[in-house]
Amino acid sequence: MISKSLERAINAQIATEIWSANIYLAMSFYCDKEGYEGFAQWMKKQSQEEMEHASLMAAFIIKRGGTAEVGSIQAVEQTWDSPLSMFEVAYSHECFISKKIDELLEMAIEEKDYAAQDFFWSFVREQVEEEDQASHILDRIKKMGDTALFNLDQQYGARQ
Ligand code: MG
Repeated sequence: MISKSLERAINAQIATEIWSANIYLAMSFYCDKEGYEGFAQWMKKQSQEEMEHASLMAAFIIKRGGTAEVGSIQAVEQTWDSPLSMFEVAYSHECFISKKIDELLEMAIEEKDYAAQDFFWSFVREQVEEEDQASHILDRIKKMGDTALFNLDQQYGARQ
């Protein structure tokens, strides 16, 4: 049986996961509109994964005799300055989510709820991948940006 406090905390996380899904869906729409079809597809998949996290958490609460809820979801940004700034937001969002998962694990440790600890460890591992993926793309965009600047620099430097 899950405690009321953990049930409440996981339900809050369900809303956060759906909020994450909405953020990435909005990012997908933005990329599509701006002509970045690859990023749009990546973000759409990312959004679906977040919805899956919400469902997994709901199933866990229910299996442990609790009640899963869909709380109110924060509104999300609809536009970004560039794919670079969008991925900066995505990366810092994942770091924020990692903190939230760590807090849930700490709570499960304090309550000596071993099943919940086991459940959250899988999300701790998931967040390592999430942060890595977002920062990897961010690094690549930054490097591509530098290449473009380098090319422009050479181009303008060739003026006689
Ligand atoms: Mg997630």
